[in-house]
Amino acid sequence: MAPAAAARRAAARRLLAAAAGRLPQSASSRWSLGAAALLGVALTVCSAPEPLRIRFIGNAAFELADGRTTLMLDFPYESGTGGFMTYDGASVRPTGRVVAVFTHSHRDHFDRDLLLERGWPVVGPVELTSRLPADRVLAAADTVTVGEFHIVPLAERHADLEHYSYLITWRGRRIYDSGDAMDPTRLESMPELDVALVGEGLLCWMAQQRGARVPAREVMAFHFFTGESRRCLGSRALEQGESIALPPAL
Ligand SMILES: [Zn+2]
Repeated sequence: MAPAAAARRAAARRLLAAAAGRLPQSASSRWSLGAAALLGVALTVCSAPEPLRIRFIGNAAFELADGRTTLMLDFPYESGTGGFMTYDGASVRPTGRVVAVFTHSHRDHFDRDLLLERGWPVVGPVELTSRLPADRVLAAADTVTVGEFHIVPLAERHADLEHYSYLITWRGRRIYDSGDAMDPTRLESMPELDVALVGEGLLCWMAQQRGARVPAREVMAFHFFTGESRRCLGSRALEQGESIALPPAL
């Protein structure tokens, strides 16, 4: 072995021995090395927690991903339907365990054939999930848990369809998705949210009401009838493909 390599190995052994220093003297060197490696992994994980990334795809579609689990909100939908946003399906490649969460079955929120091609399990109103194979549907419940995500469906009026808005919690963060809800009462009464994803039609209607406010640190508009956001109530809008990162609170 070259002298430099031998010196590096000796230094590495001293570091590992120091890291395993809390073990009893009698611990075998293999056990010490394993403990030191585990300690290193734990320190790495603790020092750099993965954030939640919220990415805008188009219309009412967002991708919520933490590296292990991805929730697809109102995706796939029928690209360009009704004159709304198109998207490139090939650019949507969620990773880890993927679950699609739908607010309702209008085609600018839901495309059954594209969904079946993707093969993802689904959370959504019974009116929508009853059109899917039973083994693709996650049981309807007060709260559906997927990885670190807890998904609470909230029945809201929209046209003549069964429709859910959602409160999604993730590592102490609270994210609200209005879908196409038409009534702001529940949203306005929410305890402070981290991010509220709110349809622009609802936001701009609220903006005309005296004292209306969305109780969220970040209000993100979607579903732009004119092709771009009017930024009602001081809301922000992401470009298609753009994302924000939310660090865990817990
Ligand atoms: Zn709709």
